[in-house]
Amino acid sequence: MALERTFSIIKPDATKRNLTGAIAAKFEEAGLRIVASKRIQLTLAQAQAFYGVHKDRPFFGELTEFMISEPIVVQVLEGENAIAKNREVMGATNPAEAAEGTIRKEYALSIGENSVHGSDAPETAAEEIAFFFSGLELVG
Ligand code: UDP
Repeated sequence: MALERTFSIIKPDATKRNLTGAIAAKFEEAGLRIVASKRIQLTLAQAQAFYGVHKDRPFFGELTEFMISEPIVVQVLEGENAIAKNREVMGATNPAEAAEGTIRKEYALSIGENSVHGSDAPETAAEEIAFFFSGLELVG
């Protein structure tokens, strides 16, 4: 099976609590290779563009303000079935529903401040990687 790439964000609630390394370790333990990684501070316009698909949802304002509240760490993860594997390691959106051992079960504070983002399909993974990284930054 071919290697797949997915896009990940370690969100502000996690960077603020110094959980970047603990979360990266979860990815690596699951067999995902971190092929690109950088710590950045989003502008409101960038957060709104990234979460554009949610612009009509009631939580859009809160979500975008949260995403600019602290720096984030954006990463590209590579591995067999990377998209599904990452979603499994992340756990359910709502930490109250997340399985034992998942990142959100262990670290998320709420359904909004839930520590990580991960792409949900090959098309969104490609778009999200291109939003944050140039080809030169991806070192497989
Ligand atoms: N979110 C929220 N309230 C909700 C649902 C989602 O604040 O009721 C936020 C949460 O941070 C979530 C993000 O919006 O991670 C994107 O939602 P999605 O349904 O795509 O969940 P995900 O793919 O991140 O599990």
